[in-house]
Amino acid sequence: VTTRLVADAVVTCDDAMTVHEPGVVDIVDDAISWVGTSEAAPALADSAAVRNIGGLLLPGLVNTHAHTPMTLMRGAGDDLPLLRWLTEVMWPREGLMTPDDARWGMTLGSAEMLLAGVTTSCEMYLFEEALIEAVAQSGARLVMTPGVLSILHAESFGAGRSRMDTIAEVHEAHHDPDGRITVGVAPHSAYDLGIDHCAELAELARDLDTVLHLHLAETRHEADELEAAHGGVRTVQLLADAGVFDGRVLAAHGIWFDESDLKTLGECQVAVAHCPVSNLKLGSGIAPVAAMQALGMTVGLGTDGPASNDTLDLWEEVKLAPMLVRVAAHDPTAMSAAQALQMATRVGAAALGLPDVGHLSPGAKADIVRLDLDHLAFSPVTNPSELLAHVVWAGCSRNVTDVWVAGRQVVADSRCETVDVGEARAQVQERALRLARESRT
Ligand SMILES: [Zn+2]
Repeated sequence: VTTRLVADAVVTCDDAMTVHEPGVVDIVDDAISWVGTSEAAPALADSAAVRNIGGLLLPGLVNTHAHTPMTLMRGAGDDLPLLRWLTEVMWPREGLMTPDDARWGMTLGSAEMLLAGVTTSCEMYLFEEALIEAVAQSGARLVMTPGVLSILHAESFGAGRSRMDTIAEVHEAHHDPDGRITVGVAPHSAYDLGIDHCAELAELARDLDTVLHLHLAETRHEADELEAAHGGVRTVQLLADAGVFDGRVLAAHGIWFDESDLKTLGECQVAVAHCPVSNLKLGSGIAPVAAMQALGMTVGLGTDGPASNDTLDLWEEVKLAPMLVRVAAHDPTAMSAAQALQMATRVGAAALGLPDVGHLSPGAKADIVRLDLDHLAFSPVTNPSELLAHVVWAGCSRNVTDVWVAGRQVVADSRCETVDVGEARAQVQERALRLARESRT
């Protein structure tokens, strides 16, 4: 059965950034069958449902780097220096988390993202089965990259490769490129695991033909020890030499790259999850996004965990990313509104290995967001380019009224249809209190 959505405007986020006013999106099952102007829309069978919904349709936003169950630690230890924040607040609480805690943390965060129009997230976390369960229920799209950390998995390499076996099993059970869930591999970082272990995990990701997701160059001195132990060779070069970049790789943050790093990353076509809000909140630095894009690198947007943001509302990144590029270059033409929106949609999806996501085109997955154009900040519009500018500079999660993922409506009239948000809030509140209490005893 075809569902036809008729809107005042359709922002496709395709290569040409086509906008149809008024526009039509036809959905069959989980995919888009036709997109265009209302005038040119093909005749429909009698069985088709036509919904004149008005407003503006755009692809669901893609969050390329998150640790969403950290909703359970949101706001905790705020304003502490990074190392004390991690060692005194975050890690003690995370160490006490159960799979059920992670499931509720993910459930709350998944609803928060869907209500903001963020339909896909790439998660680096433990408790992968619990996260998959939460998203199976919420109806969102998930790239689950099970995390590997030295403190938990140091023995899991070489002969004792138990964590790798687990990840391969999760991949076997849940990786479904035609469905809503795919499974990658996530070594935390080179400075945490060392080069050899990252190389082993990269080989696993290549064997599974999936994405390798790691933190890279987030803070200035994180890799000093590692590099000193390797004769001063830079981390990016060490990883490249070890073959870590031979497959599909997504590097989160990517702030402290020098010119030689960028050249290597560009040659290896490493994608980057740019997390400007987290990078600013933690005082980490400003990523050289313009230089990466000039090299043809795929740069998407990410929120990072909600303990370092503190929301999962990717609209903040949509606005901040071009602002940072512009202020760094002292040039308001350095990144356009259209480029920013593409980073949040099609380009971000490409970084995750999801070519059929992040654009409204025939054959693409029907992940669609409706924005209310009656919002005061969207007035006036005297030409289509202003409409696009409004989406990026004035758009925000409050404008999101309806959301579809894989053709299924998951948000209607600004209410999440798939998650009991009252229950999720109560569960996270109670569980967060327990983690806070027990981590102090
Ligand atoms: Zn992160």
